[in-house]
Amino acid sequence: MTESKLREEICYFGQSLFDRGLTPGSSGNISAKVDGGWLMTPTNSCLGRLDPAILSKVDERGNPISGDKPTKEAFLHLSMYAERPTAGAIVHLHSTHSVAVSVLADIDPDEPIPPVTAYYVMKIGKLALLPYYPPGDLTLANAVREVAGRHHAVLLANHGPVVAGKDLETAVYATEELEETAKLYLMLRGQKLKLLTPAQVADLHRKYPS
Ligand SMILES: [Zn+2]
Repeated sequence: MTESKLREEICYFGQSLFDRGLTPGSSGNISAKVDGGWLMTPTNSCLGRLDPAILSKVDERGNPISGDKPTKEAFLHLSMYAERPTAGAIVHLHSTHSVAVSVLADIDPDEPIPPVTAYYVMKIGKLALLPYYPPGDLTLANAVREVAGRHHAVLLANHGPVVAGKDLETAVYATEELEETAKLYLMLRGQKLKLLTPAQVADLHRKYPS
């Protein structure tokens, strides 16, 4: 895909996510790999009103190449790319149900959302929950770097999800799957559940490696 097409795609998905209430105000950010660097949504920008011409372009150290000043989570994105060379795009949202799960005191950090559905297992695989760090802080980027080699989806406590994909469409759809599963999980809390069994989960991982 050409850089200009990718710029348009970032704006298209940004607006789509915003219009459906998946990331309010100026929250959330999107990045995608291009020749010579990464495109990122600018700091304090609303994902519903992005302009392809002023998206930030940065190098692998986060130095600006062109466009507006990048998101303050630029280093978080770059940390994830450093550990996941096949990732082509990353989506970070403040989507309500995923954030709600990240605040629960009694969830397992190794499995914050259990295998409720097959699509959750296929698109997210194993979600990692990281403890709280201040947004934009290098400690947050470093914490993501530590788990990103094993997890393409990370839930930041009291903040929101970060999801990498081979391309932007894949990353967006996986983030949506995570949000919908978080919603389901919250609806189901306190009920007796029949989750996918470890054998069923292993079978899905074999057929659909993430
Ligand atoms: Zn954020």
